[in-house]
Amino acid sequence: MADKRDYYEVLGVSKTASDADIKKAFRVLAKKYHPDMNPGDKEAEAKFKEAQEAYAVLSDPEKRKQYDQFGHAAFDGGAGGGGFDFSGMDMGDIFGDIFGDFFGGGSRRRSNDGPMKGQNLRTSVRITFEEAIFGCEKEIEMVLKDECKNCHGTGARPGTSPETCPKCGGKGKVVFTQQSFFGTVQNVQTCPDCGGKGKVVRDKCPDCRGTGYIASKKKIKVSIPAGIDNGQSVRIREKGEPGLNGGPRGDLLVEVVVSRHPVFQRQDMNIYSTVPITFAQAALGGEVRIKTVDGDVLYEVKAGTQTDTRIRLKGKGVPSLRNKAVRGDHYVTLVVQVPTGLSAEAKEALRQFDEATGGSLNRTGAQNGAASSDKEKPKKRKGFMDKIKESLDDI
Ligand SMILES: [Zn+2]
Ligand SMILES: [Zn+2]
Repeated sequence: MADKRDYYEVLGVSKTASDADIKKAFRVLAKKYHPDMNPGDKEAEAKFKEAQEAYAVLSDPEKRKQYDQFGHAAFDGGAGGGGFDFSGMDMGDIFGDIFGDFFGGGSRRRSNDGPMKGQNLRTSVRITFEEAIFGCEKEIEMVLKDECKNCHGTGARPGTSPETCPKCGGKGKVVFTQQSFFGTVQNVQTCPDCGGKGKVVRDKCPDCRGTGYIASKKKIKVSIPAGIDNGQSVRIREKGEPGLNGGPRGDLLVEVVVSRHPVFQRQDMNIYSTVPITFAQAALGGEVRIKTVDGDVLYEVKAGTQTDTRIRLKGKGVPSLRNKAVRGDHYVTLVVQVPTGLSAEAKEALRQFDEATGGSLNRTGAQNGAASSDKEKPKKRKGFMDKIKESLDDI
């Protein structure tokens, strides 16, 4: 062991280097001396192994502490340390970490024999605009797995029981040695025969065909709260996949898809719509009927309303998800419609109107000097406007 280099020296880092520095240094060396990059180069292979060993120790806080205290002696079974067997190391984790991108992202294994919550399931449900505003109850159908009653989830024919997996000896993991890439690297993988369970079923349960589960269609009630928006989800507890080892079921997440409404648009808690008004309504004012999610309301349009005037109907918007009583507003854009397809009579009335206003945009006519007789005008104008209103109202 006298010629064995110091691990810090191997990686070219200081004794106070951070975990990130150590990882970075190893990444650089591992790429440089990678046997794949240096085929047949024995020296590179040796350097690679050396770096690998140094990293294995220095990246582990416990081992690093031992090494700092006892040096190499900590791991060679000699004085002081408890001895450390590299062959038992899970290099898969290290390489999964370092070369995650290289191997297309190694997923981290977790072994857990205790109770585990089942996986969540996802589905979606379509509702109308109004249902999203006021909330609703929906019933959906899901295929859910339940523990097989015949075998109580073991998957084995009643009277028999699952056997210890011969491939992994019940550990659920297999160790294999990779030669080609990194010299000799031990890798641990989930056992392909038992899928990590450590047990295999020889005589399968006829009800569940050895899976331990029976899948069936279930009707599930979904309570959708008032104010929900497109894309939000409702969580239904314990309607997901069954748990493992006595753990609770996962949840069911129901995403809400809200259909478009022909009249209303929504943004957060407010509703928007456009309401056409006639030219006469805009000029003279009057009542217009406005559709809201609470039903029609009558709104008094002011005389002289310009097109694209926005009005606010307070509290006619979307309820807050937290408190139904709190509601957003409904904004209505009033759009003045220019009449088309006029009758001869309506055209004549409009011509008279135009004449009466002197072709001016301003009805008083004063600014344009079009006024001829100030006293007569208001009466005359009123008559024309009434006529226009009559003709236009049925458009
Ligand atoms: Zn069964
Ligand atoms: Zn196995």
